[in-house]
Amino acid sequence: MSKKLFIPGPIDVSEDVLEKMATPVISHRSKEASELQKSITEKAKKLFYTDNEILLSTSSGTGLMEGSIRCCTAKRAAVFSCGSFGDRWHKMGITNGVPTDLFKVELGQAIEPEMVDKVLATGKYDLITVTHNETSTGIRNPIEDIGQILKKYDDVVYCVDTVSSAGGIKIPVDEIGIDICITSVQKAIGLPPGMSLCTFSEKSRKRAEKVSNRGVYFDLLSMYEYIKKKNYQYPSTPSLSHMFALNYQLEKILEEGLENRFKRHEDMAKIVRNWAEEHFEIFTDKNHLSNTLTVVKNTQNIDVSNLNGELQKRGYLIANGYGELKDKTFRISHMGDYTENDIRDLLKNIDDILGF
Ligand SMILES: *Cc1c(COP(=O)(O)O)cnc(C)c1O
Repeated sequence: MSKKLFIPGPIDVSEDVLEKMATPVISHRSKEASELQKSITEKAKKLFYTDNEILLSTSSGTGLMEGSIRCCTAKRAAVFSCGSFGDRWHKMGITNGVPTDLFKVELGQAIEPEMVDKVLATGKYDLITVTHNETSTGIRNPIEDIGQILKKYDDVVYCVDTVSSAGGIKIPVDEIGIDICITSVQKAIGLPPGMSLCTFSEKSRKRAEKVSNRGVYFDLLSMYEYIKKKNYQYPSTPSLSHMFALNYQLEKILEEGLENRFKRHEDMAKIVRNWAEEHFEIFTDKNHLSNTLTVVKNTQNIDVSNLNGELQKRGYLIANGYGELKDKTFRISHMGDYTENDIRDLLKNIDDILGF
């Protein structure tokens, strides 16, 4: 029996989307390949409310995170972290030889725009990274307010990790002023893992031109140039199977209606939050809650792996805490194509197992 995956990625994929992965393979240098990539681009621009170019990567989102800090830092990068995925971006900078500093807040708290302002006022940095939806703590960072701060700093490239939020939470990239907005396909977008995409602004392009050690596979500038010179193709061989499925799923997402989709995520989040408050506590600062996952503080000291074992027998799976929060919290995701009824079914089963 296949399980319903209420973990923060990968999640269940609809049958019809899976079937698109089985589309006969085409040449990645054909006119059809260009048409396919162009069609994905047009839809992805709508998803991100942007006129900037869309880059595709045959990798999970981590690849584009690494590519962005490496290709677009000429001076020094400031990484703002409120959990494991923010910390990961710092490690990428350091291990790629990019001068990088880490600015952290306490787990469960959000990044304050004032903190970003103070750091940038030093004039030392020309790129910042922010995790929109920190999947380890359930924080949704105020990327809009941080974007307002960035308007004072013309020279700074704004990179945002929206891996666990894009497709579930509205991210108006151009309005906020995000230069590189990164996401993976296996979370709120609802595809099998193996591909990622990002928006790429003119400012990031100009910056990348000044950086010489951009590497090869995750060289965002070469991805961009291929689009321009080869009419929407990819520098190496992309996962065409994912591209067929992504094109189809984006069409379905637009058919559902972006606002409807975001509202559905908000409604699912409210159900889980109410349930969590009734039986446990919410781990995360309540002013900055994510709509795609809820991190529950394990105040009843339940055995999460035991609960998950019982849930699996019934066809469900949730996630334990991430990193140092492993036993202190557990995580329920509500992203992708799930409905309120799916969420209610899951919670009913948990209640039943825990005797609530
Ligand atoms: C899952 C996740 C990542 C890692 O993405 P991959 O697609 O697994 O590389 C990065 N950031 C956040 C916020 C995530 O949730």
